[in-house]
Amino acid sequence: MPIELVLGDITEQRVDAVVNAANSSLLGGGGVDGAIHRAGGPEILAACRELRAERHPDGLPTGQAVATTAGRLPARWVVHTVGPVHSAREDRSGLLASCYRESLRVAAELGARTIAFPAVSAGVYGWPMDDAARIAVGTVRATPNELDEIRFVLFDPGAYAAFERAAAG
Ligand code: ADP
Repeated sequence: MPIELVLGDITEQRVDAVVNAANSSLLGGGGVDGAIHRAGGPEILAACRELRAERHPDGLPTGQAVATTAGRLPARWVVHTVGPVHSAREDRSGLLASCYRESLRVAAELGARTIAFPAVSAGVYGWPMDDAARIAVGTVRATPNELDEIRFVLFDPGAYAAFERAAAG
C-alpha cells in the first residue's frame, strides 16, 4: 500500500482528490476547512450549498464523505468528511475510521488515482495526535483500494512525527 507522509499544506497538493476535515454544515470553518475554501475560491462553497440543498438538508453526518469541485486548487476534487469531536467519555474511533473509509470510497467512485488526507479531527475537534494517526494509518491500510498513492499531509512536525510512528508501528 503506497502511503506517503508529507509535511506541508494540503491546499498545495497535486493529487486528484484532497480531503477536507469539514464540519457537518459544509459551509466552511477554521483549520483545513478554512484553508481549502480560501485557496480554492467560491466555487467550492457554491457546490457545498448545492449539496446541502439537494442531498443533505440537515448537514453531512459525522463519518460520511461527499465530493465537490476543487475550484482553483491543483486537485480535481475536494472530498469533504466530518470527523467526530473527541470525547474522553465515549469511544468515537469507529466514526473517525469511517471518515477515512468513506473518503476512499468516494474518491474511487470519482476515478481518483491519488488522494491527500489531513489529520482529520486532530485540530479543533481535539483528537490526540498519536491516536488520530494510528486510526488514520490503520484504517487506510485495512481498506482495500486501487489508488496509486495515499498521502497524509501533516501541518506541523509534531503531527508528522506521530504519523511516522503510526506508519512504523
Ligand atoms: P478538525 O476540526 O477535524 O479537528 P482542523 O482543520 O481543526 O480539523 O485540524 C485538523 C488537522 O489539520 C490539524 O492537525 C491542523 O493542524 C491541520 N491543518 C490545519 N491547516 C492545514 C492545512 N492547510 N494543511 C494541512 N493540515 C492542516
